[in-house]
Amino acid sequence: MSDHLVGIYGASGFGREVLPLVRKQLKGEGVELVFVDDGDVPAQLNGYATLGYGQFLANKAKKKSIVLAIANSAIREKLAVKCRGDGIQPLDVMADNVVVLDEVDIAEGAVLCHFVQLTSNVRIGKYFHANIYSYVAHDCIIGDYVTFAPSVRCNGNIVIEDHAYIGTGAVIKQGTPEKPLVIGKGAVVGMGAVVTKDVPPGVTVVGNPARVLEARKG
Ligand code: UDP
Repeated sequence: MSDHLVGIYGASGFGREVLPLVRKQLKGEGVELVFVDDGDVPAQLNGYATLGYGQFLANKAKKKSIVLAIANSAIREKLAVKCRGDGIQPLDVMADNVVVLDEVDIAEGAVLCHFVQLTSNVRIGKYFHANIYSYVAHDCIIGDYVTFAPSVRCNGNIVIEDHAYIGTGAVIKQGTPEKPLVIGKGAVVGMGAVVTKDVPPGVTVVGNPARVLEARKG
């Protein structure tokens, strides 16, 4: 039994992408890596055991850490609260070629995949996911439980509020220091969208220029 057990919570697509990052990050530290999943998953995936959360909790390792590798932000928040309550520490994950420049503040639980760049004077909230090739440029403020799919281009002076989801290849126009461009709480930016103005909380925007997707009538 290892002294330090690290659980990758979520044994689906993203979890299987995140585990190798953790393996490389903690190479040589004698940790044991497992998937943790509450669903009906095989006993092993990619050569690693999958445990239910109860089994993970019951493991007698001296230290246990968890990485929340599930893209759905509401689930991430629920699991973060549960794990905290059970005294399990979050592990921050950063791929080995992530670029982080000056004055970047990242709260707990982030997962930064390969080729992610955070430039200067950036603030990132809790449990941020930045999938491959995404960037956050200068003077941005990213809230809690924000999710970037691959290749999100978040330019300077942008505020992204809690639980927003930004789809693959979306481009967000830069704001100004006086008037940052704001993506509201829980908003969804569709893949490939070109966002040129503020997005209200809770809506979905798509297209170029991005427009609110209206609910279908009838
Ligand atoms: N899951 C879980 N506990 C929860 C909710 C989800 O273990 O409370 C697991 C679920 O069984 C699935 C994974 O998280 O294996 C989410 O997979 P999905 O393909 O939806 O997301 P992705 O990998 O793209 O983030």
